[in-house]
Amino acid sequence: MLNIHQIPVLSDNYIYLLHDTDSNQTAVVDPALAEPVLEKLNALGLSLTYILNTHHHSDHIGGNATLKKVTACQIVAAESDHNRIPQIDIPLKEGDSFQLGSATATVIATDGHTLGHIVFWFKAANALFCGDTLFAMGCGRLFEGSAEQMWHSLNKLAVLPSNTQIYCAHEYTENNGYFALSIDPKNADLKARMQHVKQQRQQGLATVPFSLAEELATNPFLNAKTYLEFAEIRQQKDNFVN
Ligand code: ZN
Ligand code: FE
Repeated sequence: MLNIHQIPVLSDNYIYLLHDTDSNQTAVVDPALAEPVLEKLNALGLSLTYILNTHHHSDHIGGNATLKKVTACQIVAAESDHNRIPQIDIPLKEGDSFQLGSATATVIATDGHTLGHIVFWFKAANALFCGDTLFAMGCGRLFEGSAEQMWHSLNKLAVLPSNTQIYCAHEYTENNGYFALSIDPKNADLKARMQHVKQQRQQGLATVPFSLAEELATNPFLNAKTYLEFAEIRQQKDNFVN
């Protein structure tokens, strides 16, 4: 069985610790920082086997070097990012699978936010670690890829089982929701979701993970019919002031 622990760091990042109880192997997804991960490992009595990186941004790999030095773990990341993510031990590409003990992840390439962005889908655990590709009611900014690439990437995620739980790397939900409402104000699912999200945030609670089904009902980026429509919405979001 795969146990998942969420570690909030910086202003709005989430790091995830994955523990396969069958093998006792442990992975950390996108360690922005090392210290909070070492503390959590310590508290849980776990030792780190792997770092999984979704992409090269510093708020996703900032803890890599220290964690590798302290724990001798292996770094798992996109083959194509070998010049930007130091010390990759296990390079991966679209369609590869990765074993965390008895838990299998399928690697899906999701160019858009960056080129070389990958996500890890643990099918049996119903869990998707998607970095900065898909957010609750939003998606990552286009720093390197085109709108067409990001639209294709989101479409690959949209067809996963709708009960998939999505573990993204940032708590951007509330702000994303205000934007989504601005372009889809009559969406009853969206209005209900935002009410709940506002309550959660007032109580300081995480709104992540969430289900793909919720996204399909409320995420304007995931529902764009063409990449041109997607591009238009993405541009509006880039200029959106809440
Ligand atoms: Zn990023
Ligand atoms: Fe990020």
